[in-house]
Amino acid sequence: MSQQAGQVGEAGAGTVADGGRCAVYLNPMAQRRAEFEAAGAGLFARLALADGVEAARALVVASEGQDAASRVDLLVIDLERFEQSIDLAALGELVALRRGAPVLLLCPCAGAAWVPALMAFGPASYAITPIEAPALHQAVAGALAAAGADGADAAALRDLLALRTRAGQAVRAAVDSQDLGERLCRALADWPGVLHAALFHLKPDGDLQLDAQHGPEGLSLATLLGRSHGLLQAPLRHAFPGLLAAATGELALLDTLGQAGEPGMADTLRAHGVAMAAGIAIPADGPGMARGALSLLFERARPLSQEDFATLLDVAELAAQGLHGAELALENEQLLARLTYISTTDALTGIANRRHGEELLEKEIRRARRYRVPLALVAFDIDRFKAINDNFGYPVGDVVLRSVADAARAVLRSSDLLVRSGGEEFQIIAPHTSAIDALKMAEKIRLAIEQAEVPGADHVTVSLGVAQLGEQESGDSLVQRVNAALARAKRAGRNCVELAMQ
Ligand code: GH3
Ligand code: MG
Ligand code: MG
Repeated sequence: MSQQAGQVGEAGAGTVADGGRCAVYLNPMAQRRAEFEAAGAGLFARLALADGVEAARALVVASEGQDAASRVDLLVIDLERFEQSIDLAALGELVALRRGAPVLLLCPCAGAAWVPALMAFGPASYAITPIEAPALHQAVAGALAAAGADGADAAALRDLLALRTRAGQAVRAAVDSQDLGERLCRALADWPGVLHAALFHLKPDGDLQLDAQHGPEGLSLATLLGRSHGLLQAPLRHAFPGLLAAATGELALLDTLGQAGEPGMADTLRAHGVAMAAGIAIPADGPGMARGALSLLFERARPLSQEDFATLLDVAELAAQGLHGAELALENEQLLARLTYISTTDALTGIANRRHGEELLEKEIRRARRYRVPLALVAFDIDRFKAINDNFGYPVGDVVLRSVADAARAVLRSSDLLVRSGGEEFQIIAPHTSAIDALKMAEKIRLAIEQAEVPGADHVTVSLGVAQLGEQESGDSLVQRVNAALARAKRAGRNCVELAMQ
């Protein structure tokens, strides 16, 4: 064997002559290699340990063309310490070189993205590390058996197609991110073998939340994780694949629940019939944290095929598009609400502006006609306001305007609409209100304003006009009549209420 191959040794029972298995194990760490050699004792007639890709390649190539007994039966790539961004191409070539002969990938839970990435170069089996001796025996047997077998069968492919279709429909039909999450979780939970599906969503403020989950009664991730908000700070964030995926932006996989080193979590999941867990990051638009993650809990541990991985990654991509769309829709909605507020509200007093008041009056007139209910209009104007501006200055005048609006608003019912109809002129549109009741309301307002404390100015008063909508009367006519009543109140000496003539 070449120097590069590092240690190459005979391990376990059986010899080449017995026709025992011959394996190559690749990992750069000496301790890892020693551990594997110990765990794999009895599995292989010959085990060659390679400390680098070149060494492994040399071993594999050298065995080609040899008799069956010396050929490498299994290549084990232990991905611990390899970097996907640096080593993917070289490891991929190694997988490709095997041309379908058994490859077993040993992959850390949080680095499961390696598996579909390497499967793209050629067929491979995988097991999630840390791996105990009995599980390793199973994984080796599985890898040897899987080689040569066809990938997913027709039924499995149909199930994947159904999942893709439903995920696409979920994105098109969802009305918001919550709805999207629920639809996607239902689709994922219907995928055969999946017991529970959930969606974690990183909100724009950076908080990771459990947006949706679907599964058996009693299995709640909020309970398991101890919370449904602030999940990036949850104690199980390093162990639960869904959270791990959201935090790292990678695929996370536990094919044996115990591997996570959280016995409590493993016990709870097992008690609910969960055997395997996966987390698929929902990719972000650009650099930065993932948009969240999909969490899947399976009822039995089974190797995921290349098609399974491809579908799950596509569903996560669809989820990303859906969440992006939902965020945009929400932003648009907020923008529209803001625009509506700005265009209908008087900036100084925060009450309806004149234009909006005119629209509201027309609407209320139509409603009063249709339902044959009374409608009253009150108009009021601050007395001697010019003098307030002159004596105390314009800014104090503004404070007076705000105080008057606040004092009036405090008296009104929620169905009454207060409008700033002009400089220091206001209106109240009072649905379901007769002239008598409007007179009482006007008097209450007059009193409230007279008694209100106005910072920086003396007390202020208002004069008011009151009118009830006539049977066939137009809005213009009603406004004219109420203004005439207001003018009479001014002439009558101010700080009083006048009822409009019919
Ligand atoms: P009357 O009792 O007859 O209503 O007397 P008045 O002084 O209130 O009447 P007039 O209509 O002559 O004065 C209205 C004043 O309101 C004039 C204008 O400068 C002032 N005004 C209008 N809009 C605003 C505003 O937004 N802020 C301030 N501070 N003053 C305003
Ligand atoms: Mg005035
Ligand atoms: Mg005026």
